[in-house]
Amino acid sequence: MTNVPMWKLNNGVEMPSLGYGVFMVEEGEDVYNAVLEALKSGYRLIDTAAAYGNEEGVGRAIKDSGLRRDEVFITTKVQNKDQGFDNTLAAFQTSLEKLGTDYIDLYLIHWPGKDLYVETYKAMEKLYKEGKVRAIGVCNFHIPHLKNLMMACEVKPAIDQIELHPLMNQKEIREFCKLMDIQVEAWGPLMQSKGDLSAFVFQELSDKYQKTSAQIILRWHHQNGVIVIPKSVTPSRIKENMNIFDFELAPEDMKKINAYNLDKRLSADPDTNMRGFL
Ligand code: NDP
Repeated sequence: MTNVPMWKLNNGVEMPSLGYGVFMVEEGEDVYNAVLEALKSGYRLIDTAAAYGNEEGVGRAIKDSGLRRDEVFITTKVQNKDQGFDNTLAAFQTSLEKLGTDYIDLYLIHWPGKDLYVETYKAMEKLYKEGKVRAIGVCNFHIPHLKNLMMACEVKPAIDQIELHPLMNQKEIREFCKLMDIQVEAWGPLMQSKGDLSAFVFQELSDKYQKTSAQIILRWHHQNGVIVIPKSVTPSRIKENMNIFDFELAPEDMKKINAYNLDKRLSADPDTNMRGFL
């Protein structure tokens, strides 16, 4: 059972509005146990990537969870070294095999890079038209990347997964994506443990709503219409991060978290870094 609201993407596919991310979770028993724990706790969206090197463990956990394949929404991503039309088709096949499945729910370009993302996306369009992926999209694309892609391609990206958290609330990209009907998904939603969860604003709201700072932040994302994929290998936090659907932040409290923004990036900038952190 899960109480996570499903949100409709621009192609009609429904996706859980909260999921579980596995960046930096080690392949093997670590990722296997973490994903099993997440699925047991009610998560139905798992966000992995070829670059994380843990697709096998993710796939094994999903198989052993007792859930039907169509009850779990799997996202994976094309890594930089596999960009380009033919490389992407081959990389997709490898991801399928590692995950032990015959389709992917959401396939994303992991990082724009410089010259190859249009070609890469065209291969993803082919996979989409063949029914091997249910939705396609991008990560770390800024507005010019999105405009360029949409001019060159047929299928509008369903998702832009970007660094987004209270220190960097990405208002401009969120507004553009809303206008274009592209769903925004936040990575690093909890500031990757590099932010201050005990800052006054989170503490104050935590006391007011009797929720943890992490829950307050995840709820803020949710009310902003953003899909979140918090990562934790700590079973109590895995459960805690899901428990955000029984309260609502008042508009003035949403504003307080909005005001925390410093446009402070915690990771690489896709405009200046062509390789990302891969
Ligand atoms: P998050 O913002 O999810 O932060 C993860 C960190 O927060 C971990 O150190 C975790 O610790 C800690 N944490 C989790 N829950 C809590 C809690 N309730 N209270 C206090 N601390 C908590 O960062 P991620 O970078 O992992 O982003 C989430 C997901 O986004 C990734 O796992 C990945 O799937 C995706 N991603 C995508 C990128 C892209 O380029 N497309 C880039 C980066 C991430 P612990 O595990 O020890 O509990």
